[in-house]
Amino acid sequence: MNRDYFVQQLERSADSPWDVLIIGGGATGLGCAVDSATRGFKTLLVEQADFAKGTSSRSTKLVHGGVRYLAQGDVSLVFEALHERGLLMQNAPHLVKNQPFIIPLYEWWEGPFYNIGMKVYDLMAGKLGFGPSEKLSKEETLNAIPNLDQHGLMGGVIYFDGQFDDARLAVNLAQTAVDHGATVLNYFKVIELLKDASGLLEGVVIRDMESGQSFTVKAKTIINATGVFSDQIRQLDEPGMPPSIVPSQGVHLMVDQSFLQGNSSIMIPHTDDGRVLFAVPWHNEVIIGTTDTPVSEITLEPRAKDEEIEFLLTTSARYLKKDPLASDVLSVFAGLRPLAAPQGSAAKTKDISRRHQITISRSGLITVTGGKWTTYRKMAQETIDRAILVGGLQEKDCVTKQLPIHGYRLNTHFDEPLYYYGDDRPQIESLINAQPTLRERLHPALPYLKAEVIWATRQEMARTVEDFLARRSRALFLNARASMEMAPIVAQLMAGELNQSNQWIEKQIEQFKNLAKHYLLE
Ligand SMILES: Cc1cc2nc3c(=O)[nH]c(=O)nc-3n(C[C@H](O)[C@H](O)[C@H](O)COP(=O)(O)OP(=O)(O)OC[C@H]3O[C@@H](n4cnc5c(N)ncnc54)[C@H](O)[C@@H]3O)c2cc1C
Repeated sequence: MNRDYFVQQLERSADSPWDVLIIGGGATGLGCAVDSATRGFKTLLVEQADFAKGTSSRSTKLVHGGVRYLAQGDVSLVFEALHERGLLMQNAPHLVKNQPFIIPLYEWWEGPFYNIGMKVYDLMAGKLGFGPSEKLSKEETLNAIPNLDQHGLMGGVIYFDGQFDDARLAVNLAQTAVDHGATVLNYFKVIELLKDASGLLEGVVIRDMESGQSFTVKAKTIINATGVFSDQIRQLDEPGMPPSIVPSQGVHLMVDQSFLQGNSSIMIPHTDDGRVLFAVPWHNEVIIGTTDTPVSEITLEPRAKDEEIEFLLTTSARYLKKDPLASDVLSVFAGLRPLAAPQGSAAKTKDISRRHQITISRSGLITVTGGKWTTYRKMAQETIDRAILVGGLQEKDCVTKQLPIHGYRLNTHFDEPLYYYGDDRPQIESLINAQPTLRERLHPALPYLKAEVIWATRQEMARTVEDFLARRSRALFLNARASMEMAPIVAQLMAGELNQSNQWIEKQIEQFKNLAKHYLLE
């Protein structure tokens, strides 16, 4: 992936329309780009910031059917998600891991209740199941999660779901789309929609956020995959339209491994206010989340509210022997869910459906919102099916069900260094062999190597220090303080690759530090 080359392609294509133009480089847009390119359509994706800068790097990192939706009786949603979970594990075995989850039991009735519920979950997964759920004794539960609070504990139920690295999968989807002929551009923002004399969409104006230059781009179909920002694009299409989505914020805290002491995750199906709480090991730390708080501001950098942090600390402390304190938090991050605006009586955000929606406006703008990371492939399939109709494109079947995602590598050992590059790993090792200093770690607290900065800049379109520290590596999310300390060396290495000045280096370090301090709890 090379941004300069893609900009040239954009200039070369000025006179011939793209078959499919996708606005937004999160899970939804990147999934559409993969689907469209693999059906053979001339595909362009533009992302205003970096790939997965929005919600798609801020998830709980679960590839799951959604036990909660089962409890809410949304059986078809769970069926769909469990099927997609299985496909994603097959297509990206280098990133999706089978993860044991334990529901601790504190009341006599919870045993049969959750045991039966999880058996239904197993059955629904069919032959794509991740392993049978089982009832555990108190001792077995404590063996699996040594830091679980024993007080009143009666046993547990173990079940299996998937876990992944969201931003890494996003980069791999961008690479997959490019491998199949798509053009993907980060730091390109759609600022205007263009219509023909009959009011049908015929293109967009995009701005290169690095150079400030604007381009007019023609396209047969335009897909709005901008998540919580989708109403902004719809406003460009139909000024004055009422909001169709409400943002709901979810916050996660990162703490170190000692708060779980094992490989299993904790799943609390029903906290005091009816939410689900997870504590999940991830890249050698532990994620605790999440919340579901209605917010009014839509931004790429949502901030956790004090009460959300308080809720996560106090609720998790009730289940853990060693209670996490604010001073234990390595990083705190928030993401926004684009929920369908409730019709009629105001439902609570946690009760609003997580189902995706695809709409087509009078001018032909296809908007796809909602859903989950887990179901991105199915969402993309349905969206491109609509694009074929709207754009009068040639009928071609979707091929992504069995499409290996860039990096595909079987038998991944998730504790090996650099495993998350899958099939690309030997190329990073070659960089190190050619220049052994690249084997040096960027920080003693995190596993990332200097070679990864070079690789991310040359091959994964990392353009800023934040791109590397937040999404090519996950340093910012794993340990915000350590990531700030890594910023100068990352800036130095990137500047060498991008031919940038000392002034660029200083500005990048300053910008990253200003951002990262909001991931710290003081
Ligand atoms: C707290 C939380 C936890 C979650 N956990 C899970 C989970 O564990 N498992 C799961 O399956 N799902 C999970 N989800 C859901 C999942 O993260 C989302 O469904 C998914 O990331 C949405 O992706 P998206 O592409 O639609 O939106 P986004 O990732 O937000 O992408 C939209 C993109 O559009 C870009 N954009 C906006 N305007 C423009 C413009 N004018 N021009 C160009 N680009 C533009 C934005 O910069 C952004 O990058 C979670 C969601 C939240 C909020």
